[in-house]
Amino acid sequence: MKKIGIPCFFMLCTDGTEKECLEKGLFGDRESWFPYLKTIRKGDIGFLLNITRDQLLGIFIAEGEARLNINPNAWDGAFTAQVKVKLIDQLQRVDKSSEKLEKIIALRKIQREPFPYNVPSKKTYGPDITSKILSLFRITDTVADHFEITPQEQVGLYPEYKLEGVAGLDGIKRFVFQRILAPFEDEETAYKLGLRIGGGLLLFGPPGTGKTLVSMAIANHIQAKFIDISPSVIIGYPGEAEKRIENIFASLDKEPRAVVFLDEAEWALCKREDQTSSVMQRITPVLLAQLSRIFKQKTKPIILIAATNKPAMIDTAFLRPGRFDRIFYIGLPDENTRAQIIKICLQNRENELSEDEISEIAGKLEGYSGADIENIIEEAAFISFERRRAEPTKITKEHIIKAFEKMPNPSVTEKEVKQIEKWAKERGIEI
Ligand code: ADP
Repeated sequence: MKKIGIPCFFMLCTDGTEKECLEKGLFGDRESWFPYLKTIRKGDIGFLLNITRDQLLGIFIAEGEARLNINPNAWDGAFTAQVKVKLIDQLQRVDKSSEKLEKIIALRKIQREPFPYNVPSKKTYGPDITSKILSLFRITDTVADHFEITPQEQVGLYPEYKLEGVAGLDGIKRFVFQRILAPFEDEETAYKLGLRIGGGLLLFGPPGTGKTLVSMAIANHIQAKFIDISPSVIIGYPGEAEKRIENIFASLDKEPRAVVFLDEAEWALCKREDQTSSVMQRITPVLLAQLSRIFKQKTKPIILIAATNKPAMIDTAFLRPGRFDRIFYIGLPDENTRAQIIKICLQNRENELSEDEISEIAGKLEGYSGADIENIIEEAAFISFERRRAEPTKITKEHIIKAFEKMPNPSVTEKEVKQIEKWAKERGIEI
């Protein structure tokens, strides 16, 4: 049977570095290898090859593009070219992976993407297969059968996500309360008036600004299943992905209410001719047909939330009135919101920060996303932890400043933000 090609990437680790990769959800390499990491795209499937044990660990999905110093402290600063990854389902370990990979690789027709720059040759220090894997750079094929991957769309309730735990985003919260949640709370009247319960929102803005967080919190607020449809649903044999999508939507029929979260929505909502893979060209129509099917059922309380960092890729046909009820820009947090995010992040951690100190730090964090702030607080906690024998274990302003100094640049560049905002302005979308 012919298999579908999906972009996979491999990263190496040793027994010494593996733990941090897994704990931090981060893959890293030396800065000279940044260009290699730059070929990884959000949604690509990643594997970690532990060269000490010749063990392949999987399966991960790249959560964003590679950046330098996402976590400057990881691996003691040795591997600053980093990509954030998320484990798909449970961690799987495959022993004697070089043997197995050799077979897979030998069977494969490899499609390479050239490096964008000249990269110094890398010293190989593992089994021979290491150099082979590295030479592949990008493998456009699936290795699913060898790993028994059954990637599953995330379905579940997330009680830990509360609307109170989302700082700022007032416009969207207000809209959600008035137009989406209120009819849920008085379904009878809403039905009498023929109001549609639920609806569709498109959230766009730089990464790490709370798009996923607010969507999960909405699901939790109405006790709805949260169904996360991300590009990982496309893994599998021909026909399998379509089937999976159909199954997801069929399962909705049994749910009293649901929030369908279309992450990285540009993969599904871009113009057909822009779709990079034939896989997507097949899957997108299935997905769109299913979405319009659920929206036709007026009485089914379903909220569709599509989120993207790349709105310019979205086919303008989807932006016309009638498709999404509202399109929201979710930008980088302002000073007040940053202070709230700091407070939220400190909530369950021992700390001795005063209101004034929190405001002072929020003032310094201009340009930092909510996700960056979360990383800084996490790092501050770690600094406190490291000093536990010498100091009381409480996060202080000094710890946060130290953590902040390790992350001197926000993860989102001004240029990226400007591009997104320009796109919004051109379409008359409020930012
Ligand atoms: P996005 O979906 O926009 O890329 P996420 O919702 O995944 O970003 O945000 C990543 C993390 O950053 C969240 O889990 C949360 O800890 C933090 N964060 C981002 N924005 C906010 C916010 N407005 N309020 C509270 N936490 C936030």
